[in-house]
Amino acid sequence: MTVALVYPPTCDPTAPYLAVPMLTGFLRAHSVPVLPIDANLEAFDALLDPGALSGIAERIDAGIAVLERADALSHEQQLRYLALQRARADAHAAARGIAEAKATLRDEARFFDEASYDRATRIIDAALRAISAAHHPLHLDFTAYRTPFGLLSQDEIRRMAAPDYDPFDAYVNETLIPRLRQTFANDTDGRRGVIGLSVCFPGQLQPAYAFAWKIKRALPDVHLTAGGPGLTQMMIRLSGSALAEALGPFDSAVVYEGEHTLLALAQALETGASLRAIPNLVLRDPLLGARYVAGHGMEDLQGLPSPDFDGLPLERYLSPRLTLPYDPTRGCYWGKCTFCHYGLAEVGTAEYRERDVATMIAHLRELSTKHATKHFYFSQDSVAPKTLVKLADALIDSGLELRWGTDLKPEKYLTAERADTLRRSGAVACALGVESGNGRVLELIDKGAPVRVVSDVIDRLAAAGVAAEAMCFTDFPTETRDEALDTLRFLDERRDCIAVYIVGEFGLTHGSLVAQEPPRFGVREVWQLAGDRLGLSLFFEPIAPWKSDDDRAAVDDELAELSRSWTLRPYPWAGAVSTAHTLLHYAELGPGVFRDRARGGDAARHGAARSLDEPFEAAVKFDLARAALAERREAETWGELVSVLRAVSREAYAGLTKSYRPLRASPARFRFAAESAPEALSTRPRGRRPSHAHNATRR
Ligand code: SF4
Repeated sequence: MTVALVYPPTCDPTAPYLAVPMLTGFLRAHSVPVLPIDANLEAFDALLDPGALSGIAERIDAGIAVLERADALSHEQQLRYLALQRARADAHAAARGIAEAKATLRDEARFFDEASYDRATRIIDAALRAISAAHHPLHLDFTAYRTPFGLLSQDEIRRMAAPDYDPFDAYVNETLIPRLRQTFANDTDGRRGVIGLSVCFPGQLQPAYAFAWKIKRALPDVHLTAGGPGLTQMMIRLSGSALAEALGPFDSAVVYEGEHTLLALAQALETGASLRAIPNLVLRDPLLGARYVAGHGMEDLQGLPSPDFDGLPLERYLSPRLTLPYDPTRGCYWGKCTFCHYGLAEVGTAEYRERDVATMIAHLRELSTKHATKHFYFSQDSVAPKTLVKLADALIDSGLELRWGTDLKPEKYLTAERADTLRRSGAVACALGVESGNGRVLELIDKGAPVRVVSDVIDRLAAAGVAAEAMCFTDFPTETRDEALDTLRFLDERRDCIAVYIVGEFGLTHGSLVAQEPPRFGVREVWQLAGDRLGLSLFFEPIAPWKSDDDRAAVDDELAELSRSWTLRPYPWAGAVSTAHTLLHYAELGPGVFRDRARGGDAARHGAARSLDEPFEAAVKFDLARAALAERREAETWGELVSVLRAVSREAYAGLTKSYRPLRASPARFRFAAESAPEALSTRPRGRRPSHAHNATRR
């Protein structure tokens, strides 16, 4: 009986992720046949295609034509009209440029040529904007898949899984399901087979459900299950009928680390044994709705085999060289950071575990030889620095000559000598959890490393020739404007040592200590929205605001200024923290590549100045500047739903928006260029000289 393991979108298509290979290795070691499918890669590969994107461009044009048949647009139609018009030029540029863009990312020479790389990634980003608009109200990128009501309930998930809204529908129905059907038809043992969807990141949740509804309809006899951190973190907070609703199309779900639970499930289905006693397996229950028998949620890492990548299309990733993930450790040895809810744990992080160093070397040797690659990302929550140095010593002795990167908590243990050991073992990058450059905030976060230590570790890594990446965020509860600016100053003062950085914004998660003890962090109240049946929303109100809007704008301005010193790009492109493309750039061009390129301001600047495609002019029936006002009303509407009504539903939304005035036709001509908002070409003459008063708003 085959177990098909499916990794759904939306994630990084530049390198394989660890989850499916880990499970594959474990099941195969127990003689269970596995079909691993990176549906994220396959679905994006199918979508980022000249033919598919020409279809998207036609769909956008057709959508505009339909809306322009009306005399006036409702609030929701205005939002749709705006999205379609804004994506017109992106869609045409993407359809024309996508073949070359993908070829560039897979070609060794063009990948490292800055202008070629820059154009390729911009084309793909334009494609994602066009795909999103064509499936309005979708927002799709490589980390997020969002529709306003999409994850409220299974009804909403199914509604948004229709072809009009789901860009992956054709891939699922025409490629994935036929392959699964064929696989199970070839199973001669007469068993039902198992399909498991691996949901690691929040952006996979909605596509995973959409995939599952379609698979279940097509293959009703196959046992459909799901697991992974993205699903576990949601399911372990639910019980009874809410848990049953969360199961949706799935026959079962695996919570926490899944190796033994999935094996027990496959064996029970094989032998016809009851599934009821399998620990951590969520099942429907006639009395309770759904439930699971709680079991030990953490695997003994020492007993687990190497991840197994056989069967994945390793040559199809959008990279010229394969970067493989490997997990020397699991969990976090520190586990105290108060904002953190990471991986497969109810609160905070999973318990820390390590593989034996000799085993790590044996696994890495085998993977490197088998897949002919030297590039690895050690994918782990947070590795103990002592263990990392031991691994580095062993890598030096092994003669493997790998090039590797990992995430790391700054510790004073990382002396200059040890940083040099990391470099000699092949370390090209360490992404450091800096969090904040302000001492008080860092203490409240409980990072266990004062600013001085963080700074020293950055200096030592940089001096050793290892790219030191800084991961920070602003807006931790109680952080003032000056404290946020301390973080930006920290980065600025170390601009010669920091390879790239990210400054995110604090987001409250259910399993963080902030959510467990809100008053300790200046938080008055934490709430969820009525109508959110899967319990995914979480909002909070400070006891006293810690920043004004002006303060936030000042921080944003400083951040924009700071970013001029690096060539930063969004995930998963080169210039983002902890990505395969970034790692390859360091390995080929050195740890200072993203600073040097910003200083040089050469090819990428020219590339950025060059349009992706020829701009064009066109008439529009509805003035886009007026339609854009609908976006402000939309934001106000959601503010009312979230903060005042604290409830979300289509009915509540319709109740608030029904009084909004429709937009009447007001023809105009606009200029359309990829990556830019459409630009009005003329304004109606009013017979007056324009006012030059500083507060003039009339045009
Ligand atoms: S932020 Fe990193 S170091 Fe801190 S608890 Fe989470 S995984 Fe561990």
